[in-house]
Amino acid sequence: MDEICRTLKEKGYRKVLLQVPEGLKREAVSIASELEKRSGSSFIVDGEICFGACDHAGTRAYLLGLEAVIHLGHADIPSMSSRCSVPVHFFPTPMNANPDQLLDGLHHILDKSEGKRIGLATTVQHLGLLGTLRKELESEGFEVLIGGPGRREEFPGQVLGCSFRSPEAISGSVDLLIYIGTGDFHPIGLVSAVRKTVWAIDPMTGSVTRYDQKELDSFLRKRWAAIAAARERIESGGLIGVVIGSKPGQNRKDLAGRALSACREEGHLSSPIVMDDLDPMKLHSLGIDVAVITACPRIAYDDAPRYAAENVVVITYDELMIVIGRKIWEEYTFDERW
Ligand code: SF4
Repeated sequence: MDEICRTLKEKGYRKVLLQVPEGLKREAVSIASELEKRSGSSFIVDGEICFGACDHAGTRAYLLGLEAVIHLGHADIPSMSSRCSVPVHFFPTPMNANPDQLLDGLHHILDKSEGKRIGLATTVQHLGLLGTLRKELESEGFEVLIGGPGRREEFPGQVLGCSFRSPEAISGSVDLLIYIGTGDFHPIGLVSAVRKTVWAIDPMTGSVTRYDQKELDSFLRKRWAAIAAARERIESGGLIGVVIGSKPGQNRKDLAGRALSACREEGHLSSPIVMDDLDPMKLHSLGIDVAVITACPRIAYDDAPRYAAENVVVITYDELMIVIGRKIWEEYTFDERW
């Protein structure tokens, strides 16, 4: 709150939009009224779903005649375009964690693994815990490596669902990687990025999970099935929709242009489609059989069953290249073309 009020005062903003991630939505109204009380600026609360920093409401605020967006819960994506937007100020919101449980998890990992050079990575809400792990590891004689940020990250060691550049930068120098966070997607992406064993520690419970080639293979089998399904649709004359995201940090119109040219050069029926919030029904209504998603790559990776229920196969740009024979399966990569 103090930091936000300082920014409002320094910049002289009087009319501001407050945007919060889904986990803070229940608090949004009380945060806005507390900020109004403390700063004297007036706030409108953004009621739309917010998927990440890539989905900031700078254009909505501009259309409303507001002066800035205060965006909580995510870090800036430095390479993101700021066209048609008021200034957006990002305030990451660290999650509380129990350091004792975190260290219990760490010792569990150290008991079960070998190697003296350990890489660390996490998402923005747990970045503050990297220092705790580093200190403990170094005090026990380990060498700790944390990769610098890529074009989409603001901080060293930070990973996004669409960018693993930080751990990739240290992949050749570490024996294993420790990730702080929950869920399978990031650790599997990290195995692919560093080609080493990845251990994940849940910072709330201290429980640990090991990920290596077996988990990556299971993910890849699903992607292979999507590629095979897309090829079948395309070979029988199906329509390819090349989806361009209109969210400020998801807009890859050049990549979409390359996908479209490739489809047309190979003689496949295809059309560019622009979308903001992607939805299987919207693509189904347009008669799309295969959607090449150049917006958030996790739509293809995580939401494939929802799209399958509407008879739409969702793939990434690199997967399209395999489908149309411009790349071979052995060259498969996660979608990080930003
Ligand atoms: S594009 Fe997707 S994975 Fe990347 S920051 Fe946005 S929501 Fe997250």
